[in-house]
Amino acid sequence: MDTTARTAPTGTAPVASSPAGRDLLTAEILALGSEIVAGETRDTNSAELARALGDAGVAVLRITALPDRRPAVEEAFRDALGRVDLVISTGGLGPTPDDLTREAIAAVCGEVPFVDPEIEAWLRGLWARRGLAFPALNLKQAWRIASSTTLPNPNGTAPGWWVERPDGRIAVLLPGPPREMRPMWQDEALPRLRARGLGRDHRSRTFRLAGIGESQVADLLGEALLRTENPVVATYARADAVDVRLSAHAESPATDDHGRPTAARSSEMLLDQLEAVVLERLGAFVWARGETTWAQAIGERLAARGWSLAIREIGTGGSVGTLLGGVDGLLHVESIAAAAEPSREPVAEARAVGAAGGADVGLAILARVRGADTGVGIGVTTPDGTRGVERVAFLGGDQGRLRAGLAAAHVLLETLDGVGLEPG
Ligand code: AMP
Ligand code: MG
Repeated sequence: MDTTARTAPTGTAPVASSPAGRDLLTAEILALGSEIVAGETRDTNSAELARALGDAGVAVLRITALPDRRPAVEEAFRDALGRVDLVISTGGLGPTPDDLTREAIAAVCGEVPFVDPEIEAWLRGLWARRGLAFPALNLKQAWRIASSTTLPNPNGTAPGWWVERPDGRIAVLLPGPPREMRPMWQDEALPRLRARGLGRDHRSRTFRLAGIGESQVADLLGEALLRTENPVVATYARADAVDVRLSAHAESPATDDHGRPTAARSSEMLLDQLEAVVLERLGAFVWARGETTWAQAIGERLAARGWSLAIREIGTGGSVGTLLGGVDGLLHVESIAAAAEPSREPVAEARAVGAAGGADVGLAILARVRGADTGVGIGVTTPDGTRGVERVAFLGGDQGRLRAGLAAAHVLLETLDGVGLEPG
């Protein structure tokens, strides 16, 4: 086989990008600050940025936390800029000597920082406005290097830096405090990155499942499906559901052995194909899509029928009220300790609380210890009928009570969809 034939003819091939046109497909994040590696500050910045980059179709290959030590920070920038298209740092842009992010990136670029008169004027103005003398220490926040431009900071005194490397790679330096980092990322960095070609056509869909554990989900999906690279299926055991997330990026245009272009599928096409397979295997357990909560899912169904809800929970420690407290149309919640009433009947309780609360729908939950687990009796009454269900929630104690609440939400949702209703 002639390997050169795989190269598309000039003109149709995606030719090597010019440096300025380098696509930004891979990224690393540096969380700078001794307080982070000491465990005193939680690194929320990196998680937020990683999520935003992922949503934009950028592969985040590494997140590194580093102390305020110049050799370590310098090395981290140098290494990351040798590996990925985009390096984003947060922290170390303050005025004190331990804020040394600017010094580090300047050294990596082989440049000497200078005071930018425009930033200096802006900074001095901030102090003058309050009638204060400008502290010499803060002049450092007016620094720039020849290959950097400034990202304005309307919420603090530390402008960010946008640094372009000759090979088209980019470093973005953001301040550490989340209330400064977030708007600078959203309003300044992200639009510029988008203009530069951030990520690729990338989409994802999430299905929320109930009544099934993560390992059983994995079993039903099968190993082959869980190992594909594009599209990707991933499972997440969240507190309120098992989420199955499908994500895909568009296939690159390619050519076959004869130099003819092959059909490249868009991310939506890939997701449609995958969704069909996943729903065939797991559809019965899906109760919502995206980031829907139980309260939203139940609230939507009640609103569609114009119904209101009242809840009586016994022995659940209030877990149902906590889970469904935000439901639109919820009129009344009662929580009763288990010891008080050992022998109640869920459907009768549901009917009673519906009447007591003046609601169209009554939901009653009776949780009791059952060995190492929690027995849950659930009753639902609606204008269309009633339903009584017995479940066993995994584990006892707080965990069991939480899971009893989830079981109740699941049964209520199904019942509102017409499952298991009996006249009466
Ligand atoms: P710095 O700009 O490094 O001096 O950071 C100032 C403050 O921002 C720190 O004291 C933290 O409260 C906060 N901060 C810095 N880095 C992070 C981070 N990665 N995640 C969340 N908060 C941070
Ligand atoms: Mg710091």
